[in-house]
Order: sequence, then structure tokens, then C-alpha cells
Amino acid sequence: MKFKYQNPFFFLVAFSFFSLMQLFGENRQSLGFQHLVLAGAQVSQDIQTDFGRLERSGSNYLEVWPSTTEEVAFLVKIAYEHDIPIRTQGGAHSENGNSLPRKGELLIHTSKLLNITFSGVGYITVDAGVSVFLLNKRLKEIFGYFIPVVNGGGAGPTIGGFVSAGGIGEQSKTFGGLWENVNSITLVTSNGKINKITKHNPMFLFLFGSMGQLGIVAQVELSILPIINQSDRDNQPDNQTIEYPHGHHIVMEYSGTNGKYWKESGAERPLYWFNLFVSPDRLSEARGDLLKLQKKYSHAIDFISIYHWPVKNIDKMPPLIYHHDDDFIALGILGPKSNSSQAIEELFHLEDDFNKLVLEKRYRRYIQTEFTASPQYYKSYYSKKTYNQFEKIKIFFDPKFLFNRGSFFNR
Ligand SMILES: Cc1cc2nc3c(=O)[nH]c(=O)nc-3n(C[C@H](O)[C@H](O)[C@H](O)COP(=O)(O)OP(=O)(O)OC[C@H]3O[C@@H](n4cnc5c(N)ncnc54)[C@H](O)[C@@H]3O)c2cc1C
Repeated sequence: MKFKYQNPFFFLVAFSFFSLMQLFGENRQSLGFQHLVLAGAQVSQDIQTDFGRLERSGSNYLEVWPSTTEEVAFLVKIAYEHDIPIRTQGGAHSENGNSLPRKGELLIHTSKLLNITFSGVGYITVDAGVSVFLLNKRLKEIFGYFIPVVNGGGAGPTIGGFVSAGGIGEQSKTFGGLWENVNSITLVTSNGKINKITKHNPMFLFLFGSMGQLGIVAQVELSILPIINQSDRDNQPDNQTIEYPHGHHIVMEYSGTNGKYWKESGAERPLYWFNLFVSPDRLSEARGDLLKLQKKYSHAIDFISIYHWPVKNIDKMPPLIYHHDDDFIALGILGPKSNSSQAIEELFHLEDDFNKLVLEKRYRRYIQTEFTASPQYYKSYYSKKTYNQFEKIKIFFDPKFLFNRGSFFNR
């Protein structure tokens, strides 16, 4: 991306500067906004929401749609130099408002980061904005491969958002969490630095469940497996390898969701869930506790059956997801928001009771994907050790606390 001072639209840009100064004042940040506009950012006053429809964005922010890692880095560099807070948004398929821009922030959409390369035998390099579900469908139908761990809930979540949540699926009983199936992550951090963080890096596991706090996940190197049925396996000589499209490149064009999409009247109803992550010996206790809440707050949600996914520990667990390197079981009550007039009031009472239950009984939960979110709650939920380790890594990658400011930490 290059500045284009000679551009015939210079006039328009000059007018935008004037509007920016009216909106944001004549200070250092305003100068940064001007640079960002020259680099393609647009001023927006649209109020956005996410899949949960419980949170709203601010107004008067900048938004931009980079299409390469280098463009992401260039934008982050400008924002970082001028102390402009940066917000990252994938499909806005989360429900805690953390993907929604606040006033004066730079919102970086990942929806144009859509490249996929078969970069090595058994793995692909996927840009952050690619839908996990659609990529898996394409890999299966065209190439005969699959992604070991895919989200439920359809095409909404992007691979960048899935990493930021943690990433578990029905297949986790065999393949573990997403983290067991990723070789490296390309992360754009302070001053636009591009870091390739491999699974051997001690900070790697902290990226899973980090909710956009450490930088922008630009690319994910993901393991894939061949679809091969038992009879093919039996008939295949040991030395025969499955044909692999090494070097093949595809662009996953599709129209994904975003913070404006979820405002549309035709968008699917919000679905809420409350999840516990427990060791197998606490399964029946946790199930009983969840069913009690479901019965007490039956007007909040049109509950569907409780779900129950074992998650295998293959190597190590990400500390922001689970506190021991052991297998755990994810189970949760969930369903679309009920049409009852008491739905929202009951939903918030249910949330209060669930939060108390988790803290009193020291349960783990899938906090990244639920609608509960505040710096105070995160501090009380995580152990001191995990919280402090995460804060240290945050300071290392984002010393000015500009990424998703105020969402996890108080600054
Ligand atoms: C109906 C439903 C079903 C779901 N099913 C599953 C499931 O089966 N398994 C599971 O693990 N999760 C599941 N989820 C949770 C879902 O995976 C997460 O909410 C995920 O974050 C959504 O991805 P997204 O691209 O929409 O991210 P967004 O909602 O846009 O963002 C979520 C957070 O991640 C940050 N973020 C997004 N992209 C990036 C990036 N590239 N770099 C850095 N930060 C980024 C945002 O700033 C924000 O803090 C489900 C959610 C719903 C609503």
C-alpha cells in the first residue's frame, strides 16, 4: 500500500482530513488518522453489533480491509506510532462485544485475508479471514483432505477468530483442540512487526484463547489429514503416499459475516451458551449444576440438548483455556434466545448464577465464546499465575496496550 498524493481524489482526502479534525481533534492521533485515511481507511459512524446482539460498537472510528499480511503490518505500524487503539474483527460471530470498535479506534477487518497455500506435505497456510467451516468443506470436496478440528455453528467463525477463541469441536475427542493441529501462527504486533510463532515457542500456547490481545493473527499454518477409509488403508502399500497438491494456491472468496451483518433483520437469531470444562470425575456434578440452571431459567433460552465433547490432551493445554495438561470434557447448555418477554432479564440472571457457580466451585469455562466479558471478571476468573503470565506476554507484544484496548485488561 503506497501513499498516493498525486491521486485525483486528493480533494476528497483533504475534505476527509477536515472531517477527521472535526471528529477527533487536532492532535497526534488526528495526524495518525490522516495517514490511515491515505492508506485506505474509511471513517465510519455505523453502529455495529455482534452475533450475540447484546453489545454495541461506538461511533466515529476508522475501518480498513487489508488483503495481505504486509498491509496489516503497514496499518498497525501507523496506528502504533500515533497511539491509535486497534480493534480486530473476523466474522463478529462472538457475543461479548470484544470485536466491536470503540470511538476513535482503527477497526481492522480480516475479511479480505483469504489466501490458502498447500505450503508443505500435510499442512496448509491459511489467511486469517478464511471461514474454517467452508475451508474444510472445500478441502474435502476438491482435495480429499480435512481439517482435524472444526467449529460447530456454521460458516461464521474465521480461522483467526477460532484461534483467538481457543478452538474445540466434536472431533477434539480424537484430535485434541485446535492448538494440537497448528504448526505456527503469523502474528502482527507492535509497530507492525511480523512474527512467525512456531509451536516450540513458549508463547505459542498463549495465543489460543487470547481474544485479540496480543496482536493480529494474520496467518495460521494448519495440519490437514487425508480422507481415507479403512479398505483403502488396508489396500495401500506402506511406501505409497497419497497425492498431495503441494504448492497449490486458492483464494476463498465468500461473503462472510461482520458487525454490520448482524444488524440485518434476516440474520439468524442469537444463540447463547454456558460451557463448563471439567475433568471426567466431575462430569456428573457439572451436568447436574447446568441442568438446575436450565430448569430455573427456562424462559431465557429455547434450550436444545446439553452438549458434551471430550477434549483429548495430546501435548499441552493452552493456559487461557484449561489449567492442567490433561483430558477434559466440555459440556454446555445452549439454544437460541427465547421469544419470551422475560428472556433478556432471565438471561442476565442466568449469567449471574453461572458466574457465581464457576467461581464458587472452581470450574473452568469457555469464557472466550460466552457473552460474559469484563476486565474485572477475567481477573477474578484466571489464576494469578495465568493472569500475570498473560500480562507479561501482552507487554512483550503490545507494550502500549493498543490491541483490543480495555476489553481484557483495564488499560
Ligand atoms: C453458534 C456458535 C457456535 C460456535 N461453535 C463453536 C465451536 O464449535 N467451537 C469453538 O471453539 N467455538 C465455537 N464458537 C465460538 C467461535 O469460535 C468464536 O466466537 C470465534 O471467535 C468466532 O470467530 P470470528 O471470526 O467470528 O471472530 P470475531 O467474533 O470477529 O472475534 C472474536 C475475538 O477474536 C478477535 N479476533 C478475531 N480475529 C482475529 C485475528 N485474526 N487476530 C486477532 N484477533 C482476532 C476479536 O478481536 C475478538 O476479540 C461458536 C460460536 C457461536 C456463536
